[in-house]
Amino acid sequence: MTKTSQDSSDLVHGFSFELGVRASEQERNSHLIRPGFGRIHTDHMVSISYDRQRGWDAGSLHPYRPIVLDPTAMVLHYGQAIFEGLKAYRQPNGTIAVFRPMENANRFNRSATRLSMPQLPNDLFIRSIRALLHVDRDWVPKNLGQSLYLRPLMFASEPMLGVRPSDQYEYILIASPADPFFSADPTPLRVWITHEYVRAAPGGTGEAKCAGNYAASLLAQAEAFDAGCDQVVWLDAIARTQVEEMGGMNLFFVEQSGDQTRIVTPRLTGTLLAGITRLSILQLAADAGFQAAEIDLSVDEWRDRCASGTITEAFACGTAAVIAPIGEVRSSKSSWLVGDGGAGPITMRLRKSLLDIQHGISEDRHGWMEEM
Ligand SMILES: *Cc1c(COP(=O)(O)O)cnc(C)c1O
Repeated sequence: MTKTSQDSSDLVHGFSFELGVRASEQERNSHLIRPGFGRIHTDHMVSISYDRQRGWDAGSLHPYRPIVLDPTAMVLHYGQAIFEGLKAYRQPNGTIAVFRPMENANRFNRSATRLSMPQLPNDLFIRSIRALLHVDRDWVPKNLGQSLYLRPLMFASEPMLGVRPSDQYEYILIASPADPFFSADPTPLRVWITHEYVRAAPGGTGEAKCAGNYAASLLAQAEAFDAGCDQVVWLDAIARTQVEEMGGMNLFFVEQSGDQTRIVTPRLTGTLLAGITRLSILQLAADAGFQAAEIDLSVDEWRDRCASGTITEAFACGTAAVIAPIGEVRSSKSSWLVGDGGAGPITMRLRKSLLDIQHGISEDRHGWMEEM
């Protein structure tokens, strides 16, 4: 049964809505046992259209369905496309909360600015999440450790082959249940430092969460796979010596001197993506009584400090995988182990403290969880 309504009594968080056929409880539960990542979508989505003259329309919540695009839609030719990634978590009392959504809203707009795309009011971004979670809330998994991954995106939809910023855009929000990253001992990553390719150059789009950055990264990722590694580590574009980030995740290093523990991460130079997980870990490290710092670190320093025992652990962090330990580093020039190659205790402790906040197990001291 499909119902369409423009009646204001039928608005969900300000959006007109059209409910579609929902997956049965049995079907949904079978999907939620092992959802993996990004394979399954919920029953509905949100669409909001922009026109340079009229601004954003009221938006609608409707059944998940394909998008129809004109072959000259500008995104297909000139690549104006940005996205975000954040997660909704079932809380112990049954409510649903999203981790720091306003940070994502702000970053979405910074990305939009860099790609000459219009600003989406933060209120509209947050309301789209509320509306989708309102209708598809049964898709937020109840199993400990699982979550519902939210994917907001915006692309240029104007049919036009001339090169200039598009006058029309679509904002879309979809959601996909994600597997737990709760396993007690995650397998440490083996990472590949590429000396061949760069992700971002000063003045480029490295700070924006745009589709093109990912397109340009895939060849280096293939090089990493060929070298028997899981992920690629990016160096700066100029000197090709400084460690920047990994695949779609930021990097951290644990340094020990005497009984002092320092948690460090590469400084945001303009070519790194400013991760919200990164920002949160800097805070959690300080909360745990560690020194936390944003630094410059070269590949040689990384290797030498692992050899001398100063760097004892390394890990990558991002919304999708939360915190992933790094056990081994390889490049065309050298390879080495980080610590004993296993997941380190500080890494696992920070991981647990972040996951416990997200799943409502420990107190949310910084007000990071927004109930939806
Ligand atoms: C999204 C992303 C990250 C991680 O950001 P989070 O906000 O922590 O998910 C790191 N690097 C790149 C290149 C990214 O696209």
